[in-house]
Amino acid sequence: MPASSRKPRRRGALRGAARAAQAREVLKRLLAQYPDAHCALDFQNPYQLLVATILSAQCTDKRVNMVTPALFKKYPNARALARARPEDVEALIKSTGFFRNKARSLVGMAQAVTEHHAGAIPDSMDALTHLPGVGRKTANVILGNAFDRNEGIVVDTHVTRLADRLGLSKAKSAEKIEAELMPLFPRERWTILSHLLIEHGRRVCDARKPRCAECVLADICPSATAGPPGLRGTA
Ligand code: SF4
Repeated sequence: MPASSRKPRRRGALRGAARAAQAREVLKRLLAQYPDAHCALDFQNPYQLLVATILSAQCTDKRVNMVTPALFKKYPNARALARARPEDVEALIKSTGFFRNKARSLVGMAQAVTEHHAGAIPDSMDALTHLPGVGRKTANVILGNAFDRNEGIVVDTHVTRLADRLGLSKAKSAEKIEAELMPLFPRERWTILSHLLIEHGRRVCDARKPRCAECVLADICPSATAGPPGLRGTA
């Protein structure tokens, strides 16, 4: 079996100064590697990003981007979506999966935004997480990408896996992982950090077949199954 296709071994989390130094180095290298990392969902305003993020549960961003143009054309704002018939929304979002639940969440969210926020998507963690279908992860996406506010770190499956493999957090819940990552990184980098880890998870640190031999973090990663390209075969 080639080294690059082996699953990384689980190692313990780094501690104290070593963990802080690891975080700094990971951020520095991933910023250099992915200078254009950004939110992969297409949106032009907070309403569109909130709708797209709700649709992205259990679905690829690419698929979401295929359905949202027609959805936004028919329902250009929260007030319009609040008046929608769920079955009409379902027909437009069917290919994203779980479409009945998602349609219910979308219309419920839009009704709450219309009723309690005069039709404007709120820009606080508290108000966002009180909307139907909006949890902390979704709220972090909206605050960081639509409002430029670093209130927290989006922890999805990629961030969870990379935080674990890189020794930054071995916690199991998204809340705990987020709480452990936040003090390790400058606040103004919290939003881009998620994009960087997600990008690296998609391109290199695959869940089943991480490409450690091509990874720019291989020499500092406690889970690497191969050394960095320049050092391989020199031992
Ligand atoms: S971060 Fe890089 S070296 Fe570490 S497990 Fe993932 S691909 Fe391998």
